[in-house]
Amino acid sequence: MVSRGTTQQSSAPYNRRIVLDVIRRQGRISRREIVDLVSLSPQTVANITNDLQTIGLIVARRLKGARSRGQPPIAFELNANAGNSIGISLEPGHVCAGLVNLIGEILERREVDIDTHDQRRVLATVMGLIRELRRRPAAAERLWGIGVALPGPLVKTDISFIGPTTLEGWSDLSVFDELRDASHLQVFYSVDSVAAALGETLFGVARALDNFFYMHFGVGLGGTLVVNRSAHRGANSNATEIGHIPAVPGGKPCYCGNAGCLERYLSLQSLAEALGVSEAADRDALIIAALERNTDAALQAWCREAAERLRDAVCVIENMLDPLTIVIGGSAPKLLVERLVALAEPLHHSVRGGVASPATRIVLSERQEDSSILGAAVLPIYDLLSPRFEVLQQDRRAEADVAGLLGQRGTRRAGRL
Ligand SMILES: [Zn+2]
Repeated sequence: MVSRGTTQQSSAPYNRRIVLDVIRRQGRISRREIVDLVSLSPQTVANITNDLQTIGLIVARRLKGARSRGQPPIAFELNANAGNSIGISLEPGHVCAGLVNLIGEILERREVDIDTHDQRRVLATVMGLIRELRRRPAAAERLWGIGVALPGPLVKTDISFIGPTTLEGWSDLSVFDELRDASHLQVFYSVDSVAAALGETLFGVARALDNFFYMHFGVGLGGTLVVNRSAHRGANSNATEIGHIPAVPGGKPCYCGNAGCLERYLSLQSLAEALGVSEAADRDALIIAALERNTDAALQAWCREAAERLRDAVCVIENMLDPLTIVIGGSAPKLLVERLVALAEPLHHSVRGGVASPATRIVLSERQEDSSILGAAVLPIYDLLSPRFEVLQQDRRAEADVAGLLGQRGTRRAGRL
């Protein structure tokens, strides 16, 4: 995809983001190549790259080799450490936090098992983790904010915050205002599947994809449709909550009040129940041990059924949305997801069958276990690094301080992304 700049006077911040995005996506690029890609004048591109260098968001390097006469050409790169963000992943029974730089490297990581029913304890734990991460010298300055990813749906519905795959009882999210006040940082929060999908767009396997469906396989099961590098949100920001799509007529009762929901067959919670694991703290270790042994009849039966449900879900998603690919990420062990995808082959016929190669119909996150942290960390920096035009046209409660970060004056606000 080629991004186009605009010549309107009011578009300077947008053009800066266009240029920054091209530099980031290309990895290393000369000024002349930028001009070719963004349709801005050489003078405008020169002004923007000078500004971005002054702010410290990009660095210039002399290219070695390919030298003809005179000085070798200069190429620009994103300055990976120009900014950091703290990503917090909240799952039932588990909090995971990481300090992440602008190219998605996790500089420090912490995780802790905790009873997530108690919001006050979670807030205190999260503040403790943030304090530890901020001790790292690189974090002391240029910390752009905190992103929190948690299971959805977040907007109040009759299936929100109910059941063991959600943060039960968390209907009031003003705790994130307290987090902002206590940390003196911008705080963004989002459904985990949306955050992780944006993480894959910025740092992961979806870097080159304009549209894809992201399946978040964690304690529960979530989904996000990404179109033009934006998450499709739906009428109340609850779109593509695939975990509660009826998958088996008259199937297992679900905490949402229905029966046979997809999540009851395809989630870590479902697997933990099949293995008789009741404590959230033991869940991951016991599941991994069972996977490695691979002699457990309950595990094998669960995998066969889960793979059937996955095969059906892929067919529904493909026929509904025709995505370029389905990316699977989340906190589930990679070994488990690989096994399910292998068992789900061959996939059903669908509108993607015969169009996409079988290998690209499902793509696994390269950083499966980290996808929630990376997704959360993306929230404070996504607006800066991804020039979605609609962001400039909408006044959102969660507006990032893009203008401030790009060297202009901005205001600090916090809210839901
Ligand atoms: Zn359900």
